[in-house]
Amino acid sequence: APALPPSDLNQKIRVCVRKRPLNRKERDRGDKDITPCLGTRSLHVNEPKLRLDMSKYIEQHNFTFDDVFDMDEANEVVYERTALPLVHYIFQGGKATCFAYGQTGSGKTYTMLDPHNGLYMMAAEDIFAMIRRPENQHLCAWIGLYEIYQGQLYDLLNARKKLFAREDGKRNVIIAGLKEYPIDNVDKLVQVFEYGNLVRSTGSTGANDSSSRSHAVLQILLKPKKNKKKIHGKLSFIDLAGSERGADRGETDSKTRMEGAEINKSLLALKECIRALDQDKRHTPFRQSKLTQVLKDSFVGKSRTCMIATISPSSSNSEHTLNTLRYADRVK
Ligand code: ADP
Ligand code: MG
Repeated sequence: APALPPSDLNQKIRVCVRKRPLNRKERDRGDKDITPCLGTRSLHVNEPKLRLDMSKYIEQHNFTFDDVFDMDEANEVVYERTALPLVHYIFQGGKATCFAYGQTGSGKTYTMLDPHNGLYMMAAEDIFAMIRRPENQHLCAWIGLYEIYQGQLYDLLNARKKLFAREDGKRNVIIAGLKEYPIDNVDKLVQVFEYGNLVRSTGSTGANDSSSRSHAVLQILLKPKKNKKKIHGKLSFIDLAGSERGADRGETDSKTRMEGAEINKSLLALKECIRALDQDKRHTPFRQSKLTQVLKDSFVGKSRTCMIATISPSSSNSEHTLNTLRYADRVK
């Protein structure tokens, strides 16, 4: 069974940054790494700028987060300092959410949902190990996978069926009809997940990279074996839509521009909900977007949140990188 995480990771909200390596294309064209890490919690952005007289200068920005993962850090290390504490938390009956936020191509899917060593797989492995312990043998794990596209929910484990969220009598948000599968081993999990992933990438959006324009939500529920209706704990992994704006996300016509407005709205609402959680505000504005509405239980009551902001180190992405870091900075 997994070791307990260090107690300094037991915060209600953690905001971390992960920097990917320069890719082949970026190296070939001579892009520089403009995001040096300083220790394990801070990084700089050396933003290349042009003066009016066309001379170049560097504007330096400093950021500090709960953790900064440098480009050579493996998913295992990221897992231990982000999702592992959440795994323990859901066995104590909590709701936990792990988000990946960043521009398209910065490593969100690689971090969260990579089918070889994404965080969700390591979390699932630990969850299966913990379920086998005597004190947890009354529990079992269920997974569901859906996509939020244009403010609509689609079940990725049920042929992209349209789903509707509603509140029950106890003001819990329920996604009616979402297919959930009981799962107790990694092979089965990967099999189910890969089916869903295929449905996501070939969705009906028609965009060349539809996955960057939708939020994917993988939820792992802990339920008592004897009562499928009851939820003991819940862990969600969310691979958010690309955070880049407008034309950079391929928004060239009115349809994609509308999509973009929806994405921006949901990412803004997300930031506000996490901030409200951090400040223990009585009012959480989760109704402002479908994303935050379906995540209501992550923002009220017994909950933990971890945001992983993913960035590219490349000089050619400095604007997006700064936008991502500023967003993450304001979450807490
Ligand atoms: P996103 O989901 O944010 O659009 P991806 O996760 O698809 O981005 O990553 C883009 C590319 O970069 C992929 O080929 C991926 O394998 C690679 N990549 C991303 N993060 C890392 C990393 N930390 N180490 C190595 N390769 C990475
Ligand atoms: Mg992706």
